[in-house]
Amino acid sequence: MDVDKHAEELASALGVDKEEVTEDLENLLQYSVPIDEAKQSVRRKHGGGGGGGDATPESLDVVDLTTEHDNVTVTVRVLTKGTRSIRYQGEDITIREGEFADETGTVSYTAWQEFGFEPDDTVTVGNAGVREWEGHPELNLGDSTSVALETDDLDVPYEIGGERDLIDLEPGDRGRSLEVSVVEVEGRTIDGRDGETEILSGVIGDETARLPFTDWDPHPEIEEGASVRLEDVYVREYRGAPSVNVSQFSTVEALGESVTVTDTAPSMSIGEAVAGGGLFDVELTGNVIEVRDGSGLIQRCPECNRAIQNGECRSHGDVEGEDDLRTKAILDDGTGTCTVILGSDLTEEIYGGNLDDARDAAREAMDREVVAETIAEELVGDAYRVRGSLSVDEYGANMNADAFEQIDENPETAARALLAELGVGA
Ligand SMILES: [Zn+2]
Repeated sequence: MDVDKHAEELASALGVDKEEVTEDLENLLQYSVPIDEAKQSVRRKHGGGGGGGDATPESLDVVDLTTEHDNVTVTVRVLTKGTRSIRYQGEDITIREGEFADETGTVSYTAWQEFGFEPDDTVTVGNAGVREWEGHPELNLGDSTSVALETDDLDVPYEIGGERDLIDLEPGDRGRSLEVSVVEVEGRTIDGRDGETEILSGVIGDETARLPFTDWDPHPEIEEGASVRLEDVYVREYRGAPSVNVSQFSTVEALGESVTVTDTAPSMSIGEAVAGGGLFDVELTGNVIEVRDGSGLIQRCPECNRAIQNGECRSHGDVEGEDDLRTKAILDDGTGTCTVILGSDLTEEIYGGNLDDARDAAREAMDREVVAETIAEELVGDAYRVRGSLSVDEYGANMNADAFEQIDENPETAARALLAELGVGA
C-alpha cells in the first residue's frame, strides 16, 4: 500500500480532508517513522479511536467498556467467531467477528486480520479500539492490536460456541452453527457486486422453527430434504424476520440422521404480529371483513408475474396478460388487521372451481368481477385461521398464506359473545 492509499483510508475513517492527512503522513515518513506508527499519530492528532493511540491502553472489565475509550486492553474468553468478506473502498477484505466475554459481560468484536484465536480460547487483547455498533460498544482489532493466548481459562457465565436452535437466532448474530433440514431450495441468478452470481435461497427448519436462508456460494449438500450441519453462518433481517446467510466461509456437511422440522407456527394476535414488524411463519385468527380490489379473476404480466390492470404492467407497459386466480382478504381480530393473500390453489378451494370455471362465469355475466363477488360471499363475515409469512412495510401488513381454514368462530368474538351472554362487558 502506498502513502496515498493509507491517506485515503485514514481520511475516510477520520472524516477529514485527504490532503491534510497525506501531508501529515509524508511529514512523519520523512523522519523514517514506521507507517503504522505514523498512522497512529495522525489518528491521534485528528481525535480518532479505532485501533491505535495512546501508548498505555486502559485495562478494563467488559462491563466498563464505552465508546468514550480510545483504546483498551481486555482479558476475555472467545465465545464465537464468524468469517465474512466485505468490500471496503473497492477491496474485498476478510473480517472475523463475534463475541468476547469476561465475568462482567459480553462485547462483540470485529477483527480486520486473522489473529488465530478460536472460540473457547482465553486471550488478552491489547490496544483494541472501541467503536459503536448498533448502539453498543464494539471492539475493533486492527493493525496495532495484539492478541496473547492465556494458559488459564477465564470462567464466564455465557454459552461458549455458536451452536443454536433456529428459534434463538436474531439479526446481527455471527459465527453460528446450526443443524437443520432443507425444506425448500431454489437456485437464482442475481445481479451481485461482481455481476451475475448464482445463489441458493429457500427455507430451513429444525424442531423449533423455520427460517428463510440464502447461500451466497452454492454448496451442493444443500438440496431439498437434506439434513445438514451449517457452521459459521450469520443472520440478517429480512422483512422484520431473521434470515440465515451461508457464505464462502461456511462449512456445510450432510448429516447421517435427519433433522425433524416443526409443523406448527407460533400463534399470535394480529396487533402483536404487525407490531413485531414481520414474521416468517406465524398463525393468525380473525374474521374476514372485506375482500379487496385485485381479487378473483385477475391478470398477470407474462414478464414479471405481477398483477396488472387494463393490460398494462408498471414495468413492461402493454402486455398480453395471463389469467390467474387470487384473493386479497382483510382479516380482523379486534387487535389489528392485515391483508391475507391467497394464491390460486387456496382461491380455487374457496371459489369452488378452477380458472376455466371462473372464465366461463365471467363470460356468461360479461363481467370478470363476478368471480371476486362469489369469493366475497363465501368469506366475508366468517372466521378463519391462517398460517403463512407476514410482511410489514409502508403499504401495510400483508400475509402470504400457506394454509387457510375456516373455524367455527374467532376465539375473541366467541369470548365477547360469552361475556355478553353472562351480562358482563360488551
Ligand atoms: Zn411486468
